[in-house]
Amino acid sequence: MVTLDRKDLAKYPFLKESQSYIGTISSSLEQYLQSPGGKHAIKEASTTMQCALSFNGRELPPLPDIPPDAESITNIIASYPVSRIIVSCAQDRVLIDRLVRYQSWLVFAFLQDESSDVKRFIRKSIGLPETGTEISVTDYIPVASRMQEERWRLINRVVIRGKVRVAPLEYDEIVRERLRYVMARNLPIKVPSSICELLQPEVDNIKSEWQKHILEEFGKVEESAFPPCMQAILGAIAGQGHLTHMARFAISAFLHNIGMENTRIIELYGNVQNFDLRKTMYQVEHISGRGGTSTEYISPQCATMRTHGICIHPDSLCQKINHPLTYYKQKKREISKKNLKSTSEQKESRQILDKAGKKKSESGGDSSNQIPSRADGGNKDEQGT
Ligand code: SF4
Repeated sequence: MVTLDRKDLAKYPFLKESQSYIGTISSSLEQYLQSPGGKHAIKEASTTMQCALSFNGRELPPLPDIPPDAESITNIIASYPVSRIIVSCAQDRVLIDRLVRYQSWLVFAFLQDESSDVKRFIRKSIGLPETGTEISVTDYIPVASRMQEERWRLINRVVIRGKVRVAPLEYDEIVRERLRYVMARNLPIKVPSSICELLQPEVDNIKSEWQKHILEEFGKVEESAFPPCMQAILGAIAGQGHLTHMARFAISAFLHNIGMENTRIIELYGNVQNFDLRKTMYQVEHISGRGGTSTEYISPQCATMRTHGICIHPDSLCQKINHPLTYYKQKKREISKKNLKSTSEQKESRQILDKAGKKKSESGGDSSNQIPSRADGGNKDEQGT
């Protein structure tokens, strides 16, 4: 039997033990959120959300300080359900995913320096075997489905009698992904509207932070940087061609991922045969996660596009990427580099022409035939000829 100290409870706030530690902190949630303790927890939850939005999901996140006093521990533990309430009020699947990804990685970071007793306890609490190096296929599949590396694919694992073999060093990664799955499973939760109203400033703040992140990551929507597949689907939409369900999903998710407003995406479908506004709104909102379900919202990767026959006219850049979003980012970078180059060339030409004009007015003569070209004019001036 493991004994968890207060610090352990703050490190692992998802545990039943942590939630019972804070017990009944107020007679009602509404009252608590308005109390000084509740306000601290809201602040703590907002900080968690900020970290979650900027976390890249590749390296261990920095570990937060956990002050030892009971009050701080209570605030940290309480901020866990508060952060879940905030993303539930936001009704945005992307925010939910960002939050659970960050929180599960935080646990993973803490586990790196954890006693084997606590590790065993955590495994058990999330439904994994305490010891051993195998997990059932049914538990393994939802966990491994988000792992990109080839080694996690079921065909690359040893499976004996419905159990998947996992190396001891991989186990913390399994815990992290299982936790992510478990944490996301019940989100969004149903929150009374009075609570969401109370948390509206935090919800708005997180949403606008997220918009800023999208803008930083993808910038303004630049149609000329769309990959050939998305251009082709847009072409089919404009030409009233037939669109498969997968093609609709791919383009809607892609446009949502690069930051296009839902209303703009819905407008695009206006040309599609048998356009049904209500149905389209429903589908687009689901893809963007606003429909309150766990529907997938990331545009499919190239391999999936290929399987569905919608990887159309791949070009040379397609050889170097495996996701339409990566294509878009790289192409956009290329375009802005080109634009930058041509702007500086134009600036250079303007400077040369200005110089020539100045020279003409100084000499007072008609030197229209002597306006230096970009190739030789600058040198002539410098050489004083
Ligand atoms: S390779 Fe990928 S990005 Fe390129 S056209 Fe195919 S699906 Fe689109």
